[in-house]
Amino acid sequence: MLVVLLGPPGAGKGTQGERIAAALDVPKLATGDVLRAAVKAGTRLGLEAKGFMDRGDLVPDAVILGIIKEALAQPTYAKGAILDGVVRTVPQAEGLAAATTELGTQVDVVLTFDIADEVLVARLSGRTTCDQTQKPFTGLQPGTPCPDGCGGTLMRRADDEPEAIRNRLRVYQAQTAPVLDWYVARGANVQHIDAVGAFDAVTARALAAVGR
Ligand code: AMP
Repeated sequence: MLVVLLGPPGAGKGTQGERIAAALDVPKLATGDVLRAAVKAGTRLGLEAKGFMDRGDLVPDAVILGIIKEALAQPTYAKGAILDGVVRTVPQAEGLAAATTELGTQVDVVLTFDIADEVLVARLSGRTTCDQTQKPFTGLQPGTPCPDGCGGTLMRRADDEPEAIRNRLRVYQAQTAPVLDWYVARGANVQHIDAVGAFDAVTARALAAVGR
């Protein structure tokens, strides 16, 4: 099953994506995670992406489409994937459609996380992330040892600083919101869920929306 998660930064796509992936037994693919790993490793991809990411701007479509095509062609994703933050512009949606057609599959569900901007700003500005596992935490200061005991340290992502957060929300409205209209116009199976609430409640809504 191939599921596209759509929604603004901070809507919970990452956390819920993990849970949906576990419940459906398909892997999650997050371009943000791929890019952060590349930045950390100092690869060419990472060097190219870092400036865009730190400002909260989108990495160019050609770079993202390269990541998507390479990933989806791997056997790991033969049963499908939960795509978290992978489709953020209309050209990316078009590129994904072309890639899936080539692979003989298609997007089954577009799952949209509905949430108000005020909630997002509060969530993102209180978020820290483990520098080892990239797992997000709320209410813990940068420098705190990761509560999971993995040996990592909690950091504030550069793009979770206030100015970058505002920019990411602007970018979402300008470039990613039209992706939803694009899928609706193509008659895709678009499902909306209320993304505010306890983790388990949101997961239950998400699984119901994807038909589980
Ligand atoms: P995320 O972890 O999904 O919030 O992504 C972090 C940052 O990575 C974004 O703010 C972008 O700079 C970049 N990024 C991740 N996925 C994409 C994408 N599909 N298109 C463009 N930029 C992306």
